[in-house]
Amino acid sequence: MFRPAAPFQYQGEVPPGASAAAAGRDARARKVLWASQFIAGKGWLGMAIRVTVWNEFRHEKKNERVRAVYPDGMHVPIAGALREAGYEVRTATLDEPDHGLSEEVLEQTDVLTWWGHMAHGEVRDDIVARVQRRVVEGGMGLIVLHSGHMSKIFRALMGTTCMLKWREAAERERLWLVEPSHPIARGLPESFELEHVEMYGERFDIPAPDELVFVSWFQGGEVFRSGCCFHRGRGRIFYFRPGHETFPIYHHPMVQKVLANGVAWAAPTGGPANNFGNKKPLEALPGRS
Ligand code: ZN
Repeated sequence: MFRPAAPFQYQGEVPPGASAAAAGRDARARKVLWASQFIAGKGWLGMAIRVTVWNEFRHEKKNERVRAVYPDGMHVPIAGALREAGYEVRTATLDEPDHGLSEEVLEQTDVLTWWGHMAHGEVRDDIVARVQRRVVEGGMGLIVLHSGHMSKIFRALMGTTCMLKWREAAERERLWLVEPSHPIARGLPESFELEHVEMYGERFDIPAPDELVFVSWFQGGEVFRSGCCFHRGRGRIFYFRPGHETFPIYHHPMVQKVLANGVAWAAPTGGPANNFGNKKPLEALPGRS
C-alpha cells in the first residue's frame, strides 16, 4: 500500500506562499478555537457517548492524491478528533461484513457519522433500513458529512433528491454561524474560513431544516446551507458540508470542533420510548362503562 514519506501532519489550511491575510485568518481561527474548552464527551446520565465513524473508504485505496491526505482513510482523523473530545469511538467501513454495521454495533452506537461518495449504490438496502430504524425508532444520532448528501440513508430520511451544485476549484469557503444559541455553536467564532474546498451551491434540495446552524459563502459567488439539523422520529440528524477527499478538511481543528459539538447535540436524549397503539383511557370517561 502506498505510504507518504512522512506521516501526514496538519499544517494549516494556508499553503506555502499564501497571502499574509490568509495566514492571519488561519491564526485567528486557531486562537479562538483553543481558547474554548472541549466538551466532556458525556451524554445523559453521565454515560460516555458511543460514536461509530463510518467511511466508504474507497477513494483512499484507489487514488494516490487522496492517500497523501488520508493515508489510513479519512475515518482515522475523524475518529481521533472525537476520541480526543472524550467520546468512545469505533470505526466501520463499506467493505467489512454488513458494512461494519451489524445490529449489535448499531445497538451500541449513540451517534453514527457517515461519509460516502463513489459507492453509495453498493450500500445494501437492508443495512440502510437498519440504520434508518435505529435513528427513527431507537433515537440514534446521525451526522452526514459532505458527499454523504447523496447517500441512501440521507435521502431516505429526507425524502427529497438531496441534489446540489458543485465545482472542484480549490476556492475559499467562509462558514457563518447563523444560530449562535445552538448547542453546535458552543465555543465557535461567528465565522471561519477553509482556504481550499470543493464548492457546494444552492439550491440544495432538502426539506427546510428544523434548525439551520451554518451558511457558507464561496469565493466563486455561491452560497449553501452547510450545517442543517433535522429531527426524524426519536433521532436527530446533523448534515455538515465540509470534507472533500482531496483536501485535508478533517484534519482542520475548527471542523473537528464542529464534529465534536455535533455528536453532543445528536446523541440520544434519554427521552421516553415510543408508545403507540390503541389505549385504554387514563381517567374514567363520563357516560362510558
Ligand atoms: Zn466532494
